[in-house]
Order: sequence, then C-alpha cells, then structure tokens
Amino acid sequence: MDSLEAELDRARDLDVGALADSIEAIGFECTRCGGCCTGDPLDDGDEEVDADGDGSETEADGPGPEDESGGREPHTATVFPDEVRELRSAAEATFGEAYDWRDVARPMPFGLTGEAEGGNDGDGVTGETFEWALGTDDCGDCTFYEESDGQGACTVHDARPLICRTYPFSVALGGTSQPMGEAVDAEGLVRAHECEGLGRDISRVEAEELAAALKRRAIRELEEAIAVRDTYEPAGVDGVVVHDSEGRKRPDGTPVESPD
Ligand code: SF4
Repeated sequence: MDSLEAELDRARDLDVGALADSIEAIGFECTRCGGCCTGDPLDDGDEEVDADGDGSETEADGPGPEDESGGREPHTATVFPDEVRELRSAAEATFGEAYDWRDVARPMPFGLTGEAEGGNDGDGVTGETFEWALGTDDCGDCTFYEESDGQGACTVHDARPLICRTYPFSVALGGTSQPMGEAVDAEGLVRAHECEGLGRDISRVEAEELAAALKRRAIRELEEAIAVRDTYEPAGVDGVVVHDSEGRKRPDGTPVESPD
C-alpha cells in the first residue's frame, strides 16, 4: 500500500480520547498574543543587507530586497481550497463586501521566482508551487487578524481553517504538517510547537474539542496530499501555477486549462 494511504488509515483510526489526554498533559490556553497570526521578525542574515554601506547589517539598513513587510517575514499558514471558499463567504458576511480568492489566499511562495509583489502574482513572478497560504497585509500579518489594546482577534473565528483551530499542536504522522518548525514538546502522537500558551491548564471539554479538530486536520492533510499527488500535471505554461487537490490554478483561483 502507498505510504500516504497507510498514513491516512492511521489518521482515521486516531483515538480522540488519547489525543485529548496528550493535550491535557502538555497543557494549553490561548493568551491572544497573536503570535500564530502575525509575521515573524526576519532571521539574522536572512534578508538583511548593508544598504547604507557601513560594513554592517543593521536595522538602519531597512528591510531586505525581497521584504515588503517592514523587516518581517510574512505569516505563512496553509489553507486548503475548500477552506478558501468558506473564508470568502465568512468574510463577505462579516464585512458586507465581496472577497475575491486572492483577498483570502496567496500561492505558497516556495518554488516561485521573481519579484514577489502583490501576493506572489505580481509582474515577473513565475513557477509552480503547491497549495495556498492565508493572505497577508502590508505588515505580513494574516489578513483576518485584528489587534486592539494588545489583544489579538480573528475576524473570521468561526470559519478559521483547521491549521488555526489546532495550533500549536500537530499529530506526528508522515504526510501531516508540522507548523512553525520543530516541536518543543511531545506526548504520545501529539506534538506541540512554539507558543506562549503551552503548559497552562486546559479543561477536558476544550482538550477533546482540540483533539477532534486535530484528527480532522490530520485526515484532511493526508487526503489533500493524496489528491495533489494523483492530480499533478506539470505546469507547462507561463506565469504562476498552483497545484492543489482540485488541479492546477492561477493565483486568482481560476483553473489552468490543459492545452489542446
Ligand atoms: S484566519 Fe484567524 S486564526 Fe487563522 S491566522 Fe488568520 S487571524 Fe489567525
């Protein structure tokens, strides 16, 4: 059996009670710090340049050449095509205005080359990539993030994607994603990733809700990975092409037709 199918079987067999036990043992309470919804400071040497020619890379040099967000790396979280559509509907209902695909999601930047302006679909950007990332604002924060009095909030909370519902946790199955890099804690099959809310008491009800969402996410990620593998066709066209479980798309979400 293909390994992704085997992992999908394992995901479908996950015991929500056992996952909840692990989440309770690790502990978690959201502090609304916004850390999982906002851009990150750039790593040293990542994008910094000696623009003022003083021989050093300092903040005075300003953001690097590919940095459009004031010295911060844009928030990058995977959102699946059905979740993009749900977010569009939720945003339209919340804000009373039309939301296009590209208002919600941008192509994952990995694999693309050129000036990544305007959400990776600006002039000169080419290449093929896999999946979508939540859209970001000029500061590199998720486009749906709002902050007031130091408290962060998601403006589409009820429609937020599975990756957001389950952060800072993941399940250690092959083919599932590990957000924000390496795990900082582990219990059973559950992995915990960098978050200031870890280690706090969590109720059994909340742990079970999180565990159920974590199982749904593991299944969804593996189903998506299998569909992408099975539908993949090399781009063979100019510009940016995004491969997801529904086939090939342009950055505005429209399908790329196969040449006759
Ligand atoms: S959709 Fe909501 S929870 Fe997810 S990153 Fe954006 S603001 Fe945060």
